Amino acid sequence: MSYDDFIVFGAPAIGEEEIQEVVDCLRSGWLSTGPRVALFEELFRAYVGSSHAIALNSCTAGLHLLLLAAGVGPGDEVITTPLTFASTANVILHVGARPVFADVDPRTQNLDPEAVRETLLKRRGRVKAVILVHLAGRPCLMDPFWELARQHDLILLEDAAHAVEGQYRGRHVGTLGDGASFSFYVTKNLVTGEGGMVTTHRADWAERIRLLRLHGMSKGAWKRYSEKGYAHYQILAPGYKYNMMDIQAALGIHQLRRLEEYHQRRESIWRAYDEAFRDLPVRLPEPPDPDTRHARHLYTPLLELESLTVDRDAVLQALHQEGIGTGVHFIALHLQPFYQEALGYKEGDFPHAEEISRRTLSLPLSARLTDQEVERIIRSFRHVILRYSKG
Ligand SMILES: *Cc1c(COP(=O)(O)O)cnc(C)c1O
Repeated sequence: MSYDDFIVFGAPAIGEEEIQEVVDCLRSGWLSTGPRVALFEELFRAYVGSSHAIALNSCTAGLHLLLLAAGVGPGDEVITTPLTFASTANVILHVGARPVFADVDPRTQNLDPEAVRETLLKRRGRVKAVILVHLAGRPCLMDPFWELARQHDLILLEDAAHAVEGQYRGRHVGTLGDGASFSFYVTKNLVTGEGGMVTTHRADWAERIRLLRLHGMSKGAWKRYSEKGYAHYQILAPGYKYNMMDIQAALGIHQLRRLEEYHQRRESIWRAYDEAFRDLPVRLPEPPDPDTRHARHLYTPLLELESLTVDRDAVLQALHQEGIGTGVHFIALHLQPFYQEALGYKEGDFPHAEEISRRTLSLPLSARLTDQEVERIIRSFRHVILRYSKG
């Protein structure tokens, strides 16, 4: 098999408009944070229906700045799911607070509100915030979390890396808590290469995050060097280098316009997979919950290991040999060496997250996939699973 035949997991769909906009941006002479970032922020804010949107160089940066804006720091604890990417929990440590995991609901694979309630009781008074992750694009069922936030005076943050198009009861992901952070990394639903966006309804947080994203300077370079004339900046805080470039926003502006078209394409690939894998010893992804919109970021069947002669990693290896790139979302964080050593977690602490960690795999779901490629993925997955089926 040649390199060209390999289906790269999560390869993004990039249109001619994006390419032309990047070229125009390069020719314009304005490469870093400027007019295209301002436009992308406004378009994204309007899409989500949030009061404020602040573009950054990653989702991780956004989560970090949200915690700082929320005043989370040393002595505080933040509850989150172990079934997430490392940065969701790493940023809690970056602000000097302690990540506290709670188990997931085995059906939704999102944080289980009952587990969160029990954890809150155990950690009495120390928990300041909860970071929800809308895993695979499935919005968290918010009602019980809103209730817990009221009862315990908690800040609710959304890690919305998987869920740009997600909705809960007609409200967009990004407006379901006090603040949210989106990712525009290459494998995500909306791509700027690297990039992220914070949305929030809190004007004070938005102002703080704008300040902290670029060194704590009172005015961004765009304003400083613009036609409005030179103005000195003041350093108002020891900020970070977290700003988005116009080159990235050039991609984002057009990706946003294609978002619904790409979402439809992924829905149709999802249906084709559901149809084709019905008879296999795998648990298909749960259908979307009522009154929600699933962002269809990851197609994650769970292997019925009892019916297979090999483990999940052997299945991934066999798919790789067939030229199919896959992913694992995720190996639970409490099984990672750092989290075990630093926080004392061990195997057995979160049984639902561990079961999913052992069984889950992600098949390619990019809107870029052709019908022929989808057919090839279906044939290969069926072939591999049937080859390793018992009996
Ligand atoms: C990708 C991802 C992130 C990090 O996004 P970056 O833009 O790379 O910082 C955070 N959380 C989850 C759940 C992710 O999948």
